[in-house]
Amino acid sequence: MTPRPGNSARRGAAVRLVQAGVTDVGRVRATNQDDYGSVGGLHVLADGMGGHRGGEVASAEAVSATLTGFVDHTRLGLAMAVLGANRAILERAAGDPHVSGMGTTICAIAVVTAEDGGGALAVANVGDSRVYRYTDSRLEQVSHDHSLVADLVRAGELSAEEAARHPQRNILTRALGIEADLVVDTWELVPVVDDRYLLCSDGLVNELDDPQIAEILESHADPEAAAVALVREAVDAGGHDNVTVVVVDVVDAPVPDLGADGLGLPAVRPERLPAAGLPASGSFDSAPAWRAVVFAVALAGLLGVVVGAIGIYARSGWFVGLQDDSVAVFRGRPSGILWFDPTLAERADLHLLDLADVDRSMVIDAIEVDSLEEARRVVGQLAQRAR
Ligand code: MN
Repeated sequence: MTPRPGNSARRGAAVRLVQAGVTDVGRVRATNQDDYGSVGGLHVLADGMGGHRGGEVASAEAVSATLTGFVDHTRLGLAMAVLGANRAILERAAGDPHVSGMGTTICAIAVVTAEDGGGALAVANVGDSRVYRYTDSRLEQVSHDHSLVADLVRAGELSAEEAARHPQRNILTRALGIEADLVVDTWELVPVVDDRYLLCSDGLVNELDDPQIAEILESHADPEAAAVALVREAVDAGGHDNVTVVVVDVVDAPVPDLGADGLGLPAVRPERLPAAGLPASGSFDSAPAWRAVVFAVALAGLLGVVVGAIGIYARSGWFVGLQDDSVAVFRGRPSGILWFDPTLAERADLHLLDLADVDRSMVIDAIEVDSLEEARRVVGQLAQRAR
């Protein structure tokens, strides 16, 4: 590809985000443990859990700490803000027995600077709150759920329809407030004017299916009207849980620099950034690369013996991640499954700061592989590219 002067297909439009958020306690719950908030170009939503006031405290802390911790306006900076929120929740829980054990999901979208210097959108997710993109009358989920049923769908053990009704669909495999070693999924997207993003808690998607959500987004041009209608419909449909949505519209931003004619609309549709040179199994798409064959056996008994199978699942697999800011190989799943920690297999003599820029965020996200041998190969490649 030969970029035209002042233009690049990878470079995003100069945009800003216009948002409207709405939350409702629903018809069943006594309290609203969801929260949301916005500052500048960052929009965050969290769905808390925990007894007493734990859930409310966790989601409020997650939102406020992410908003204040978003200093470096890049995709990595957004992940760091979420990691900071996780630490804040853990510290608060450690200092207050009334909220110990609290946790929360989080999802976020932000205007960021891409690696090539252009404008971009970054999405972050931990848990089963969702980020959707509504574009050209199509609704697609950008984030990946960190839930047991989502893993089973990826393994081919459940259909999406079965997962949507599964009694254990509220079991999370990742959340803020569980442990310091958290893996945050992030995506970088090309901003396209008129695209609409939807952040929502599971209280929305447990009541409305995708076609119903798409229909409401389609029929309300104003983001506030769309947000109000989504929440009202979900509450009318049952309101079994707290319902929260943030509707975020991508609109043109004035370009202050008159010479900056390169910030036009991109030629390509927004997609995740391509993998950056590591083997496909270590893909940059930080969502777990699922090893269906290996795990089909481990997962076969899951529906019957949930806890036992979770243990097998949580301890199977390998990944390259971080131990005390150094690269290390672990057995298990990144950030485990709530109560099973991955175990350290071996350390590499390779510091996070020595890694090539592009490798650093991948290691922070954790690179999942099939075997110890493959993990060692990945470490070798990281070392080759390190300074
Ligand atoms: Mn919920």
